[in-house]
Amino acid sequence: MEHYPCINIHLDTITHNAHNLVSACERFGVKPAGVTKLACAYPEVGEAILAGGIGILADSRIQNLKKLRHLDGETMLLRIPAISQAREVVQYADISLNSELETLQALAIEAVKQHKIHQVIIMHDMGDLREGSFYQEETLQLAREVMKLEGLQLVGLGTNLACYGGVEPSIDNQTQLIALAQQIETEHNIRLSYLSGASSAGLPLMLRGELPKGINQLRLGASVLMGIGLNDDPVPNTRQDTFDLTAEIVEIKVKPSVPAESTALDAFGHKPTFTDRGLRKRAICAIGKQDIDISQMTPKDRNIIVIGGSSDHLILDINDSDMPYHVGSLIEFELSYGGVLQCMTSEYITKRFL
Ligand SMILES: *Cc1c(COP(=O)(O)O)cnc(C)c1O
Repeated sequence: MEHYPCINIHLDTITHNAHNLVSACERFGVKPAGVTKLACAYPEVGEAILAGGIGILADSRIQNLKKLRHLDGETMLLRIPAISQAREVVQYADISLNSELETLQALAIEAVKQHKIHQVIIMHDMGDLREGSFYQEETLQLAREVMKLEGLQLVGLGTNLACYGGVEPSIDNQTQLIALAQQIETEHNIRLSYLSGASSAGLPLMLRGELPKGINQLRLGASVLMGIGLNDDPVPNTRQDTFDLTAEIVEIKVKPSVPAESTALDAFGHKPTFTDRGLRKRAICAIGKQDIDISQMTPKDRNIIVIGGSSDHLILDINDSDMPYHVGSLIEFELSYGGVLQCMTSEYITKRFL
């Protein structure tokens, strides 16, 4: 018995994308980490990524990494850990990205307690202004402190770009990251295993052959899971149809396209506006704003117009469609990145793995 709305997750397509991205990265000396957060780290998705040849699964949330612990891959925590979660971080993440000494001290204490060596990548801010110190001397100082902490191993240097500030991965910022890593390596006479230069947003630079030699990790989420990267552009040799949404029609009626006398605000406190198309055949689907921001879904039937919705109802104009829709028919939608995210986190949307 299927329950709708449901998000369909095409696992073979995720494996296809992972596989092709591993091949593309290999030519440039890069090993991707596979980022699962868009799919809430459902183990089925983790497995599909590993099947494509990726060895590290990364997620921003420790609750998500916990779901992946029985799989083969190494796990990496992307969001700077919270001190209050130090125990779980050491328990469920092999590697974490860090920027604060207090947190690293807490991780070190936990690692010693759990008889583990926790691997640390220090984040440096190259101007996107999310995590990491913006000042080289501070990052070098943090590296010195990590080197002193028992239970921790400094394994890499990373940066995050095109996430908050819209700063693109470039030859310049990637070269600076490599130079900073070299200073750390020289000062402590160590080799850093990971120079983690960017997310999927770094792929265009790499595919142009301009990623400076030395960057050896990209953290790939959107490109593996949806075939998109910088500015949501499609990534070559990947597919974009990994996720779609199915909703069920619960009413079909012919109605005027403008309300009788519109004087009140809608359910969300906005003054509604309407386009007068005359009498039209309309359908209501059992999905609404409590499930998804409806601007993030597009009917695959291009003759359907999304006219609006409320918390639990999606109102469609199906007048121009050639399809014989009836009550109980299923309508399929494409989803944006934000749409997939909402569907994956909504407890009202069934997850169907195909
Ligand atoms: C989400 C995230 C990524 C993955 O970004 P995509 O654009 O989905 O490839 C990489 N690194 C960090 C730190 C992240 O939070």
